[in-house]
Amino acid sequence: MDAALERLVRRRAGGRCEYCRLPQLGSRAPFEIDHIIPRKHHGRTGAGNLALPCVYCNAFKGPNLTGLDPATGKITRLYHPLRHKWAYHFRFQGSTLIGRTAIGRTTIDVLQMNHPELVALRGILIAGGIF
Ligand SMILES: [Zn+2]
Repeated sequence: MDAALERLVRRRAGGRCEYCRLPQLGSRAPFEIDHIIPRKHHGRTGAGNLALPCVYCNAFKGPNLTGLDPATGKITRLYHPLRHKWAYHFRFQGSTLIGRTAIGRTTIDVLQMNHPELVALRGILIAGGIF
């Protein structure tokens, strides 16, 4: 990936995971740029298909594009950081993420955005005024 494209994606993300909003500052491992539509599904390496997930979201997203909405069991597409509005699909209740929509619930479930380790980390960052 060329350096200018990588800089653009990192700057656009504002130093936060584009899925769970974890600040890069709160993470031990540097965030890696990821294809929103994975290459295996013919996703392109361009600004319109690249996002900055944290290591947790990146690991659980993998090549997934959909999941089952835990409320309805219906196949639902995952949140797209560039096409969807974050606040429409998610909100925080303390350090826990709540899905406001089927897309929000499904993305939280597939990406395990409320993994106990991540919720605990958010709690520490909130207490420290970093989150
Ligand atoms: Zn994340």
